[in-house]
Amino acid sequence: MRYDSIAVHGGRKDEKSLKAPSYPLYLTSTFVQDQLGAENEYVYSRSGNPTRDNLEAQVAQLENADFALATASGMAATALALSLVRPGENILINSNVYGGTWSYVNSILQEHDSSYQIVQDLNQFDFSQATPETSLLFIETPSNPLLEVTDLEKVIKAAHENNIKVVVDNTFMTSYYQKPLDFGADIVVYSATKYYGGHADLIAGLVLLNDPEVYEKLKLHRKVLGAMLSPFDSFLLNRGIKTMPLRMDRQAENTQKIVAYLQTQKAVEKIYYPGLTDHPYYDIQQKQATGNGAVFSVVFAKDFDLAAFCAALKIFDLAVSLGGVESLVCHPASMTHESYSAELQAEIGIEPQLLRFAVGIEDYQDLLADVAQAIQKGE
Ligand SMILES: *Cc1c(COP(=O)(O)O)cnc(C)c1O
Repeated sequence: MRYDSIAVHGGRKDEKSLKAPSYPLYLTSTFVQDQLGAENEYVYSRSGNPTRDNLEAQVAQLENADFALATASGMAATALALSLVRPGENILINSNVYGGTWSYVNSILQEHDSSYQIVQDLNQFDFSQATPETSLLFIETPSNPLLEVTDLEKVIKAAHENNIKVVVDNTFMTSYYQKPLDFGADIVVYSATKYYGGHADLIAGLVLLNDPEVYEKLKLHRKVLGAMLSPFDSFLLNRGIKTMPLRMDRQAENTQKIVAYLQTQKAVEKIYYPGLTDHPYYDIQQKQATGNGAVFSVVFAKDFDLAAFCAALKIFDLAVSLGGVESLVCHPASMTHESYSAELQAEIGIEPQLLRFAVGIEDYQDLLADVAQAIQKGE
């Protein structure tokens, strides 16, 4: 089966009971044992639940991965992957990553006597210059919110040659557009809250990998930390994924049209979007992904009134998050990336006049009209 069909038919079959086309929701904490010493397949939902197992089978098939773990949030997925870092070790991260990931490395990782180093452009980085303590590279591509692109094949190869494991946060692309494991990544993490879920009604994360030993270790970490996804959210996520290819294609189409319109506007100084041919790594994006996604960021002119623009938007809501059916706009400097210091924001280019757009599945004509009338208010 191809991707869109796996999205619909992947995962387990409800063979045992009533052959429902959607896998049943086992809303239970515990499972009854027949007698002393005779454990059944399932014992307790923190360690295993059939509805979550069904979701994990579905997402592993979509990713060509051997193993999947569904977690309570995208941050739980990232934290699980980073739980592999030992005291004394160093990790590398690209310069603009999700705010929560930044908070993690800047707090918990440091408290555990590990260190991190920000790399401005991984494509230009010489891995033989990394400290001997460097054990892990964390890549977000395209990155958040500046949509920087990292050459997965080249960078993963260079990291591996220097004994550095690679984790990729693939939230912006999903396995529909990009499969980092196929380029050699060791672990892929997701905020499934975004495109996988797609309806802004749940918080969830995913970890995908091929190494059986690391899988067993992370599965144990998830169990003892209690970081698993609930059966109910597993059910919702499984349902959301069935329409993910349709949603993402529509979102990407809408995005292209809005970006093209914004390019004609005087109030717009710069647009960050990997689907634009003048993006510095446009060719790399086209080589490693089958789409450009539905997130882009815009730097507006100094005298453009961002507050008036945001207040005037009627269809785009002002909110953090992305990947849902509804269009959103957010101000990274004060919202998603407020945990970065002002100096760091300035250094990596999270300007005060920057807005991030996450496009939904509405009719593009309504979205264009909404942006057009709001631009008039900001000018
Ligand atoms: C939202 C997001 C996360 C965190 O996911 P949660 O589900 O909110 O915990 C991590 N990485 C990226 C790129 C995100 O957009």
